Amino acid sequence: MLTDPPHSTFIGYRAGTLCVEDVPLPQIAASFGTPCYVYSRAQLTQAFHAFSRPFGTRPHLLCYAAKANSNLAILDLFARLGSGFDIVSGGELERVLAAGGDARKVVFSGVGKRVDEIELALDKGILCFNVESASELERISSIAARRKIDAAISLRVNPDVDPKTHPYISTGLRNNKFGVAFEDAFALYRRAHGLPGLRITGIDYHIGSQITEIPPFLDALDKLLGLVARLETEGIGLHHLDLGGGLGIRYADETPPEPGRYVEALLARLGDRRETIILEPGRALVGNAGVLLTRVEYLKPGPARNFAIVDAAMNDLMRPALYDAYHAIVPVQPGARETRHWEIVGPVCESGDFLGHGRDLALSEGDLLAVMSAGAYGMSMSSNYNTRARAAEAVVDGDAVHLVRARERVGDLFAGERRLPFPPQR
Ligand SMILES: *Cc1c(COP(=O)(O)O)cnc(C)c1O
Repeated sequence: MLTDPPHSTFIGYRAGTLCVEDVPLPQIAASFGTPCYVYSRAQLTQAFHAFSRPFGTRPHLLCYAAKANSNLAILDLFARLGSGFDIVSGGELERVLAAGGDARKVVFSGVGKRVDEIELALDKGILCFNVESASELERISSIAARRKIDAAISLRVNPDVDPKTHPYISTGLRNNKFGVAFEDAFALYRRAHGLPGLRITGIDYHIGSQITEIPPFLDALDKLLGLVARLETEGIGLHHLDLGGGLGIRYADETPPEPGRYVEALLARLGDRRETIILEPGRALVGNAGVLLTRVEYLKPGPARNFAIVDAAMNDLMRPALYDAYHAIVPVQPGARETRHWEIVGPVCESGDFLGHGRDLALSEGDLLAVMSAGAYGMSMSSNYNTRARAAEAVVDGDAVHLVRARERVGDLFAGERRLPFPPQR
C-alpha cells in the first residue's frame, strides 16, 4: 500500500521508503546512479485514459504534446494507447516515428517551420499543419503545389482570452508570438481557400500552459465556435476542431480540474457537433508521472542560509531557474531527525541554480531526495551546461524497472568538436 502520495496514485511511501509503483527508489539509485528521472508506467496510462474515457464513442484524437517529455519509451507507450502527437519540430517528428508513432495522427505546431521540416512532414503524411502565420501558409502552399499534392492545414487562432477575468499563464493573448490574431483569421481562411496545394481540414488554438481552471478554455472555445460558424457561411467546412493543451497539474496546492471534468466541460459546450475533437495535452499526461531522483552531496549550513548541494542541477531540471517554478522535494527515506530550513541547490556555477528555496527537511549528506512532478518539461528541457552529462531515465512497470535512456557519457558531449588546425611550429 502506497501512503501519502503527494501528487500521484502510483508514487508514494511504503514502509517508510518512497516507491514508484512497487519499486523503492533506493534500488533505482543503486542500479542507475543519480540524478535519474523515474517514471511510472501505470500513472502515464491512467492519465491517458482519464483524457480519453469521457469521449466515449465520439470521434476524437489525443495528440500528446511531445515536447513535454519526448523519450522514445513514453512516445511508444502513448502510441500503443492510440495517441497521436503534437510536434513542434522535424526532430520531434523523427522521434515519434522512431518510437512507432503513426504520422497520420501527427499535428505539427510551431511558429518557425523550416522548408525541410515541412517537406519531411509531407513525405511522412502527417494529419495536419497547425499554421501560425500568413507567410507560413504561403510557404506550405508553394511547397505542396510544387509536389502536386495537397497539404492538410488548420489555422492556429489566437483567441485573446481576457487576462483580466482569467489571469493565468497565457500563450493565447494578442501580444504573444503564437497563432494568427483572431480578427485576421477569417480573412486568412478565405485566402487559404484560394491557394493551391492546401486542403483546409481544421482549426486550432492553444491558449497557454498550467491552466488550473476551466473557464478560460470555455471562453476560447466559444470564440472559436463563433468563427467556425462564420466559416461555414463561406462554404469552409472543417473536419476537426483542435482545442490545444494546457491543463495544469498539482505541483504544490493547486487544484486543477480532473482531466475527465475538463473534457466533459468541453464536450458539453460542443453539444452534438460532428467534427473530430483533437486535444494536445502535455503536462497533464506526464507531469505527475515522474520524479527526479537526486542525492545530497554536501550540507553547507551558514549564518544566513543553509545550503543542501545535491547532484541534480538546473541543467537537469530547468523549471525552477527558468520560471521560478515550485517542485515539492521530499526525502526518499524520511528519518526522525531534526529539520532545518534548506536551500536545495545544484553544483552549476549560477546563483539561479536552485531546485527549491527554504525547504524544511531533515537532511544528512548522502540522503536521496525526490523532486516531485518532474515528468513534464524536465528531461526534455535539460542541457549540458557546465559540461554535465544528462541524467539517466527509467520507467517503472509494477516491480520491473526499465532503463529507457542511459546516462550520457562526458566524451559524447564533445565528440563532434574539433581543435583548430594550427600551422606546424617553426
Ligand atoms: C506546449 C504545447 C502543448 C502542450 O501544453 P501543456 O501545457 O503541456 O499541456 C500543446 N499544444 C501546443 C501547440 C504546445 O505548444
